[in-house]
Amino acid sequence: MNELKHYLAPTSLDQAVECLKDGDVTILAGGTDLTPQSQAGRVKIKHTLMNIRHIPQLSGITLEGKEIRIGTLATITEIMAHPLVRQHLPVLVDACNHFASDQIRNAATLGGNICNASPAGDTLIPLLVLDASVELASMPEAKLYRHSMPLSTFFVGPGKTRRSLCELVTCVRIPLPAEGHVARFHKLGTRPALDISTISIGIAGTLKEGILSNVRVAFGAVAPTPVRASQTEKALEGQRLDEATIEKAAAVARDEVKPIDDVRASAWYRKEMIHNITKRILSHVAQA
Ligand SMILES: Cc1cc2nc3c(=O)[nH]c(=O)nc-3n(C[C@H](O)[C@H](O)[C@H](O)COP(=O)(O)OP(=O)(O)OC[C@H]3O[C@@H](n4cnc5c(N)ncnc54)[C@H](O)[C@@H]3O)c2cc1C
Repeated sequence: MNELKHYLAPTSLDQAVECLKDGDVTILAGGTDLTPQSQAGRVKIKHTLMNIRHIPQLSGITLEGKEIRIGTLATITEIMAHPLVRQHLPVLVDACNHFASDQIRNAATLGGNICNASPAGDTLIPLLVLDASVELASMPEAKLYRHSMPLSTFFVGPGKTRRSLCELVTCVRIPLPAEGHVARFHKLGTRPALDISTISIGIAGTLKEGILSNVRVAFGAVAPTPVRASQTEKALEGQRLDEATIEKAAAVARDEVKPIDDVRASAWYRKEMIHNITKRILSHVAQA
């Protein structure tokens, strides 16, 4: 068993990724997942604990060309209040509004929510329907190397991602939504606040003259990872959003998800709720 021997708080991205080369490093951002998980013995802190909160390159929310860049250290509170997010990505604000409590939102970072890779992570569903990509940095040689991957390919299991041990998530990039863009998020829990999702649903697309195109649908807490729902997307793509389309898409959604029974809900209940809430969201979009 490794004991924690070092605490590092780098002040630049280069320093941070240089430290990660060793591989035996636990990254600390807001600590709202890491602290309870390590205290409960579910996660073991490695030889070095690296606090990334003093690295300016990991902060900020900016418009870069046709993308909004959200630094990995942006907290849920910052995201909810930011004018760029409020103007262009209201679906993300909506999800943040259902996220934990003010105290947790002030500390919890977007990068932490992504890297924790919970199937019920609240920002993951809106990010998936917004077609977000995640940027990673490493230092394989003596030079900083960055690459991006679609968020839809990032998750591989509960708590597991494609991030290698020597990589740091630096930011998320979200394309500016096109004209006619519509997006909705719904989180279902057993309480109205401070609850983990029983299921969550995100739906986005472009609505022109009643026809929905460029459709993206994502579901949370119905599989080992947050998932895009390709069959439901197919049932909606290019279709007029009338009663028949909505009923068909909701039925496809119910058949497409493969949830499990757990302490929060049965698989049957989750499937029924996926059907009912998909139908409700689509009806609201059709009437908007
Ligand atoms: C009381 C309570 C309520 C909560 N409610 C909700 C909720 O409603 N919805 C929800 O989605 N979550 C909720 N959470 C979970 C948690 O707050 C979020 O997942 C949060 O976004 C994690 O961010 P953090 O900055 O605290 O991450 P940390 O705890 O610091 O890190 C989480 C994980 O990500 C890794 N990591 C962090 N940043 C990076 C990076 N840049 N690169 C690589 N790896 C990184 C860490 O090593 C760790 O494994 C709750 C937690 C608590 C304690």
